[in-house]
Amino acid sequence: MITLTGTAASNGVALGRLLFQEKQLRALSPRAQGSAGEELARFHSACLDADSELEALCRAALERACKEEADIFKVQRILLADPDFLEPVKRAIQEDGWDAAYSVQQAAAQLADMIRNTPSDYMQARAADMQDAADRLIALLTGSRPVGSLPDGPSVIAARELTPSETVNLMHLGILGFATQLGSSLSHAAILARTLGLPAVTEIHSDLSLYHGRRVLLDGYRGLLFIDPDPKTEEDIMREERKRTAHIHALSHLPCQTRDGSRITLLANISTPRDTDGALSFGAEGIGLMRTEGLFWERCPGEEEQFAACRAVIERMGGRPVTFRSLDLGADKSTGWLQLPAERNPALGMRGLRLLLRRRELLMPQLRAVLRASAFGPARLMAPMVTSVKEMEAFRQAVRQAMEELSHAGLPFDSALPVGAMIETPASALIAGELAKVSDFFNVGTNDLTQYTLAVDRQSETLPELIDVAHPAVLRLIGMAAQGAERAGIPLCICGEAAADPQLCETFLGLGVRSLSVAPQAIPSLKEKIRTLTL
Ligand code: PEP
Ligand code: MG
Repeated sequence: MITLTGTAASNGVALGRLLFQEKQLRALSPRAQGSAGEELARFHSACLDADSELEALCRAALERACKEEADIFKVQRILLADPDFLEPVKRAIQEDGWDAAYSVQQAAAQLADMIRNTPSDYMQARAADMQDAADRLIALLTGSRPVGSLPDGPSVIAARELTPSETVNLMHLGILGFATQLGSSLSHAAILARTLGLPAVTEIHSDLSLYHGRRVLLDGYRGLLFIDPDPKTEEDIMREERKRTAHIHALSHLPCQTRDGSRITLLANISTPRDTDGALSFGAEGIGLMRTEGLFWERCPGEEEQFAACRAVIERMGGRPVTFRSLDLGADKSTGWLQLPAERNPALGMRGLRLLLRRRELLMPQLRAVLRASAFGPARLMAPMVTSVKEMEAFRQAVRQAMEELSHAGLPFDSALPVGAMIETPASALIAGELAKVSDFFNVGTNDLTQYTLAVDRQSETLPELIDVAHPAVLRLIGMAAQGAERAGIPLCICGEAAADPQLCETFLGLGVRSLSVAPQAIPSLKEKIRTLTL
């Protein structure tokens, strides 16, 4: 048995044959196929195609509620539009008379090197993104698509380094885990592995191609790769894993309560009806946030289609409460069909509730759809991006109008449907007391609340270290929202990504929060943490 050590990048254990993925080293020639003008045109058209492909990948990831995966492709779109990449390519084509694919390869290699040499770990991890985006362009320019060989039986993939696209492709091939020589726990391949629950070990500084075809055991908890594991090691690790899995399974049946007996409600965030499977299997007590945008990425569905989707979620959840959030489009959640006006700062412009109140043709069918679904089980409805009492009143007025329309049509609905507000702007937290008088519940969206409080783009590539939910300003605002809710006697839940952070859990409970809504996979570890705490 050989034991190789790397970095534990994603939890889990995988046992199978090692399948080393040889990179397709393309020997490109600088000799241009056509005139400089023709090469430039080919380059521009490939850029447009690559952008559409990345946009589609991004949308597909969002539909599966894999925001981190979507962000990866978003970053790649930005990299491909970056003048630091585009200008050297154009110069190489026009001034040196080089072939478009060759020019892309050279410019991307230089830029990736430059990124790799920056002092920031985060930026270094983005070098693979540059390479990945350039590979896509080269594949389009040369007509060669990257190949992924279908594993024969249970396989653990090994590679020098995996790009995000390769990782996603491999996952669809049903592999059990992966090991890479380079990369880091911050690389997007590692982030993806964690999102998808796939064990991974990175930074194994050995030539993994030597072990192609050998039986291996990957330990993603400790960052180890065993080649030809001996029976005792294999048995020990597999026994431990069985124990862990049984523990998670047992946890899903245990109540979520602190050691001193206070009940904390754990709910799931979902985007489509099929996400309810994960929510139920991980023990969610309900849906704390259904991002209805998940139904709207491709096109605007009609009232009947929306009703069917909302009803399906309610029925699948079998009596557990479901909170639907009204459409939150605009800014980072834009779609082509919506045709929003171009704005200098879309995050500060037409989005969320502001958009809904001005586009009644979007708002009213959705309100009717959710209301009609509420006849089939416990539902709640909430407005995104609230900044004032007036907006919340306008939203409630629209809900009343939808109720009247349904009554007129003789269609059943829950006339007591709770209508709540997302607290995700500093303004809404600061007026929590007043807002609570016109809201039946609050849901705190820490993603946007952090962005707007700290004045840092939630997807910032340049200042990721400033995105800090634990900043006292953000925590103070959450505290104000919790106090406002408590005084008014309305429930409050936290549903942003931070709700899944076991390290922040104690702080949130300390601020008076008793309900958290998170990605389904995050429920077991959060429950485990809560069961160790006392209030
Ligand atoms: C949030 O902003 O924290 C939130 C839950 O909403 P979204 O991430 O969909 O904007
Ligand atoms: Mg939000």
